[in-house]
Amino acid sequence: MEGIRTQTGQRNWFLICGLSVVLFGLTACAGPRGGDRTAHSESFFAMDTYMTFTAYGENAESALRQAENRITELEGLWSVTDTGSEIYQVNHSGGQPVAVSGETEELVSFALVMAENTGGALEPTIYPVLRAWGFTTDENRVPADHEIAERLANVGYDRVHVENGTITLETGTMLDLGAVGKGYAGDEAVQILRENGVSSALLDIGGNIQAVGAKPDGSYWRVGLKDPFSGGVLGVIQVKDAAVVTSGSYERYFIGENGKRYGHIIDPATGNPVDNGLASVTVISGEGKLCDALSTALFVMGLERAEDYWRQNKGFDMILVTEDGNLYVTEGIRDQFSLQDGYEDMAVDVVEFE
Ligand code: AMP
Ligand code: MG
Repeated sequence: MEGIRTQTGQRNWFLICGLSVVLFGLTACAGPRGGDRTAHSESFFAMDTYMTFTAYGENAESALRQAENRITELEGLWSVTDTGSEIYQVNHSGGQPVAVSGETEELVSFALVMAENTGGALEPTIYPVLRAWGFTTDENRVPADHEIAERLANVGYDRVHVENGTITLETGTMLDLGAVGKGYAGDEAVQILRENGVSSALLDIGGNIQAVGAKPDGSYWRVGLKDPFSGGVLGVIQVKDAAVVTSGSYERYFIGENGKRYGHIIDPATGNPVDNGLASVTVISGEGKLCDALSTALFVMGLERAEDYWRQNKGFDMILVTEDGNLYVTEGIRDQFSLQDGYEDMAVDVVEFE
């Protein structure tokens, strides 16, 4: 690939995010291989974001409806503002155990494992700090240091106890599954489509992309990587049977009176929005929830820690864009990634295993 050099050695509930990826090639066709290759599409609003599901094949229409219903069902369990949701009840239980469904238990357990795994970069109890910055209400403000410190005192994934189908939070602690829920929901939707015999589908879950199989003609799906500075498409990732999930502060941010940009992903070590030189992190793997958890966590970690994490954990690929306009691509995805016209001069470092 030209221009690539190699680097070695080294409110609610889900906030509305801009689409971080763009899809190409969702066209319907009746092909020479026969079978129903008509595209069926469904768009809806759930989890505070727009979702568009496209599937091919005989059962596609009814499978899409089931997938949408499942997403709505999960939203009902995990909303932080809906008083009927399980997460709302957990957050307002005054330290008492709350019985939850199997899926809520599974997702919270997964978030806790990933929090531990990422050294607390993923922090499912960051919600009170997020509120102090106004990201949950759109009344953005820069909180005083003492306010952040007070809120941080109740933040900590070790303050969440999952036991025998119940969740207990220590006093003052609140859960927010905004960094992982859409990925889990995507995995559920993919499973429903597969169970219904769908072997070709593309799901856009508010910018998280999940692909079932390849395109009906057997070629890979082409997923656009968004330029975090202009909103254009800077490159294309070709995938099949994979999730592609991006996190970046450009998705949702406000500009303070001092002219500084404050994004919606918080560094739990400081209680401040991440400001480490990364503009976006895209994670590619077979599993949506892993991609979702990691894209947020690696964005918090910054370039060097993200590279270390990738080398130690493997099982996924990533594309990092830095604020100074460089691109870092792990070696497993380099052949599936290409720059778009107009971006050929961008510096691309391939991150390799040592
Ligand atoms: P994502 O778009 O998946 O990166 O998730 C970002 C959302 O997760 C934010 O809008 C917050 O609701 C929440 N969040 C912010 N910072 C963190 C963090 N360090 N760990 C976990 N969730 C976070
Ligand atoms: Mg995430």
